[in-house]
Amino acid sequence: MSEKIKIKDITPVKIHKPAESANYSSRNRIYVRAVEGMLENIRRFFGLIFLGVFAVIPWLQYNGSQAVLLDIGEQRFTIFAMTLWPQDLTILAYILIVSAFALFFITTFAGRVWCGFMCPQTTWTFIYIWFEEKIEGSRNKRMKLDQRKMDLDKFVRKTLKHFSWLGVALLTSMTFVGYFTPIDALFIDSLTFNVSFWAGFFIIFFTVCTYGNAGYMREIMCTHICPYARFQSAMFDKDTYTVAYDPCRGEQRGPRSRKLSPEQLMETNLGDCIDCNLCVQVCPTGIDIRNGLQYECINCGACVDACNDVMDKMGYEKGLISFTSEHQLSGGTTKVFRPKLIGYAVVLFIMTSLLALDIYTRVPLEIDIIKDRNSLYRETNQGLIENVYTLKLLNKAQQDRTFKVSISGIEGAQYIGVSEVIVRGGEVFTLPISVVTDPYSLTEEVTEFDFHVETQDQDGEIIKIQETSRFIFTDV
Ligand code: SF4
Ligand code: SF4
Repeated sequence: MSEKIKIKDITPVKIHKPAESANYSSRNRIYVRAVEGMLENIRRFFGLIFLGVFAVIPWLQYNGSQAVLLDIGEQRFTIFAMTLWPQDLTILAYILIVSAFALFFITTFAGRVWCGFMCPQTTWTFIYIWFEEKIEGSRNKRMKLDQRKMDLDKFVRKTLKHFSWLGVALLTSMTFVGYFTPIDALFIDSLTFNVSFWAGFFIIFFTVCTYGNAGYMREIMCTHICPYARFQSAMFDKDTYTVAYDPCRGEQRGPRSRKLSPEQLMETNLGDCIDCNLCVQVCPTGIDIRNGLQYECINCGACVDACNDVMDKMGYEKGLISFTSEHQLSGGTTKVFRPKLIGYAVVLFIMTSLLALDIYTRVPLEIDIIKDRNSLYRETNQGLIENVYTLKLLNKAQQDRTFKVSISGIEGAQYIGVSEVIVRGGEVFTLPISVVTDPYSLTEEVTEFDFHVETQDQDGEIIKIQETSRFIFTDV
């Protein structure tokens, strides 16, 4: 009876968290290690395209004016040949719906790739990290530099870094503001310190936002502020491609000599993860992907590049961390064509078609009729009844157009006022007119009738619209 009962150690296996003291400073700042690899190259490629498009678009000219100008003051968005007005809200709504479904589709298919490869927050963060790396050195050097007391070298490096960050932020801000106000004048006015109050305010505002976001907030934006991080899991399923660690292959993790033969390695009972922590050090959100799918992961693939490099050096097969699906990870195959994904694709197709149709069938003129509210009607010296209206003729085209106005619907009624006007491209023409008629031709207190507006497009094709209004005479 003295023999002890054998007990099994069921102490939970300790989750390997990043060595926090090594990754964070006292301000919880993440020191991101630079990484090279295929996915990093893809991100740079997309980042450069995005930056190029963002920087070039406001400088493009079309028909002698800025090709893309979102003039909020004038409530007019010019996009090359198209000018959108508040009346074109449906087009804006379609654009938003199409963007939302495109995001749903991509997220269901490939997780948060938008966040990792195209999102401005990620692009600017990586630009800022690049400057940090070039000026302050590698991750270890930056950590040591921050722990060091201030000296001349540290002062110069920090100053240079912040000036370069501010320079990028200022350029970003001016370019962004240039989408809303003519950019050439904005740059000239800024260089001569002659910029208007609001333009100056927004330049400073967006400079501070860019500097704060990409320089300091970084992962906080992705993990705590961006709503997309919160609802993306609703779009994920077991076939969504996302960055994942293969625990079956990687565990039991642990360091080992590179010289170990496969037989010796078998004896150690170790998996392929050498616990080098590089995947954590390169992560811009500071997480350990080996702990499983986490909402902080932006699918940037930096850990994939880092781990592939380690696997290469160890002589192991790449892909311990990879873009894969839960099904594939558990030994199955990824089902690409699945109902949810097909559903998103169908809705995306329908909404894109409706958007295209709406743009194609869009009439480039509009009339807004305002009835005079001061007097419902008045009697003229000739005993006729007169109703007064103000017509707002909107030329949505970018070229000047001649508009002809006429009426129909009340027998014998006369249109009194200018019936043919030239309306400048993208402008509204206010036209006061009146309609007179014999009271004996009216049988009701309120008689509906139509205004007609006619113009010709660039190809000489006639465009007509009509709008119904009311003629009032209460003494019928
Ligand atoms: S980089 Fe790869 S080997 Fe190194 S700790 Fe991460 S998963 Fe393990
Ligand atoms: S875990 Fe990997 S993919 Fe996810 S954010 Fe970190 S580095 Fe990027």
